[in-house]
This record gives sequence, C-alpha cells and structure tokens, in this order.
Amino acid sequence: MIIIKKAYRKMAKKYHPDVNKEAGAEEKFKEVNEAYEVLSDPQKKATYDQFGHAGMENGGFGGGGFSGFDDFSDIFGSFFGGGFGGGSRSRQNNGSRKGNDRFMQMRIDFMDAIFGKEEEITIDLDEQCTACGGSGAYSKNDIHTCATCGGSGSVTSQTRTPFGVFQSQSVCPDCGGSGKTIAKKCDKCHGRGYEHKRVKLNIKIPAGIQSGQQVRVPNKGERGINGGSNGDLYIEILVTRHKTFMRDGNDIRITIPISAVDATLGCKVDVPTVYGDVELTIPAGTQHGQQFRLRGKGVKPQRGTQGDQFVEVTIEIPNKISGEERSLYEQIRKKQAQESPFDKFKKAFKK
Ligand SMILES: [Zn+2]
Ligand SMILES: [Zn+2]
Repeated sequence: MIIIKKAYRKMAKKYHPDVNKEAGAEEKFKEVNEAYEVLSDPQKKATYDQFGHAGMENGGFGGGGFSGFDDFSDIFGSFFGGGFGGGSRSRQNNGSRKGNDRFMQMRIDFMDAIFGKEEEITIDLDEQCTACGGSGAYSKNDIHTCATCGGSGSVTSQTRTPFGVFQSQSVCPDCGGSGKTIAKKCDKCHGRGYEHKRVKLNIKIPAGIQSGQQVRVPNKGERGINGGSNGDLYIEILVTRHKTFMRDGNDIRITIPISAVDATLGCKVDVPTVYGDVELTIPAGTQHGQQFRLRGKGVKPQRGTQGDQFVEVTIEIPNKISGEERSLYEQIRKKQAQESPFDKFKKAFKK
C-alpha cells in the first residue's frame, strides 16, 4: 500500500492541473485519483480484481472511462511500477527485519538534568528466545523450506481481466512470510521465537540533558521479524522546572532582589548556583534589571563548553519603613547632591 501511495503522489503531482497545462492532463489527473480510490478501498479493489474495469462502471469510475491514458492498465501499471499486465514482481518477504522503535517519556528533576543520573525502569519486552535464537525451532534440523511458497514467504495470485493479468502478492498463509516451516517447535518459546518478559533497565541520563531530548536504549524496542533484532527504545526526557533556576541552553538564569540602599551603595551577596553559593559583588550604582555573569557556573554538557550563570538584579523598594528610616531618607532628599531624576525630566520637557 505504501508503494501505491508513493506512486499515486508522484502521478498526482505530475498531472495536477495547476502544474501540467498539457491537453488531457486534467483528465489524467482525475483518473489517477479514481484509480487510487479503487486501490485504497479493499472492497472496490476486490471488485476490480474479480471483474476488471467493467465491474467498476457502475459507480466506481463514474462511467467516464479512462480516456486520458492509452490503456487502463497504464494507470495501474504506474502504480505498480510496471508489474501490471503480466510483468512479474518478486519481493522477498522472508528476510529478517529489525523491529519497530518504541517511545516513552520520563520526567526528571532540574538538578538531575544538570548532573545526570541513573534511573531504573521496568518495561514489558519481547526478547529473542535464547534457546532457539529466534528461529522457533527445537533444532536446526527441524527447519524446512515452506512448500507452499518455496521459501519466498509470499504467494502470487493472478486475476484475468479484459485489460491484462492482474497480479497481486500476499504473505504466504502457511509460513506467515518466514519462508520456513518448523517440524518440531522450540520448547522454551513454543515456536514463537521470542519470550515476553518484564525487564528492569538501567537508564543512564547524561549530565546536561535538556527537556525534550531523547535517550536511546538500543535493542529494547519492539521485537524483530524473522529473527531480526529488536528495535530501539527512545526515552524523551522532560525536565521539571526549578523554582529559582531557569535553564537557557547551557546557561542558567536567576533573579535576585536587593534593596535600593544596597544598589546605591553596593554590597556583596551570596548567590545560589547549582554548585553551591558564590559570592557576587554588586557595585555601587547598580541599576534595576542589570545582569552579572558568573563564569563557568552554568551547565557542563557531555560535549561542548560549559555555560555561565546570569544573575539579574531587581531592586525592591520598601513599602513600610520605620520612623527612623523615614527621617534618614528625608535627610538624604535634602542633601542630595544631584538633581532628582524627576526634576531632570521636567527640565528636558520644558525645553
Ligand atoms: Zn510459505
Ligand atoms: Zn525458542
């Protein structure tokens, strides 16, 4: 079906009236769509397989016929890559294939994302049977080539239609596509080739991982087909927010409040970092919103350079002060050497 879909897209693109201005392109486009409709509808396809184009006249193709193509089989031929009308297609069905990948999510703490951690999880897993190595047979001598499909794993059925011979391939009903039959089954897995297990996995979450990144655990996905290896397991890591720190790639951001007095006079503060407190000098005259960088105090990733921590200062104005504080503030106001910011603003406004 995937092959048909691909062919359909290619043809629909080629004959789309917006793209193809050639005479008859629009008709062809319509027919491609109709043919695709038939092929993707199992019931309609069955009717076609049985009765050919004639069977589709009443409803299926709208009675308009397939005038754009020289032959009705052209369209189907395009879908099947030339396999229509007697050509033979052989696709080996019995090869071993890797299983599908599996996805899950895991939520971890902010600090665990920075320093990494190991987390044990329990999952249900189909693992290749250790006794038979996935063959499902008791011994190698018990494996025989399937007589129905001759080992190819698929069977071809032919339907004669007025437009040629329509061939369709399906999975061999006797061997299920493996191309092999088993005389005596493995007594550990009863012929299935895999064992259903509940397993504990130790998941290593690397230091510096960011929310949304995935950890790959090889061979812990869905079981393989015909002795193929398991797919992989992908775990998407979701990192819980921290109440103080904020991740910004490998940098960490933090906002700290200081008083107007400390901002004016300058001070030293012990700023929390993920590695512990670090002394930071707030210089005299620090403004609201000003940022300071603590080099190397960001996240140290597996690869790449270590980030920094950025400290943003917010200045908090007290909404309650004591009588003594008040009189001191008033003294400052009287003795202020500079013009007040508001007086400056007013002067500029009047100019
Ligand atoms: Zn078979
Ligand atoms: Zn087995």
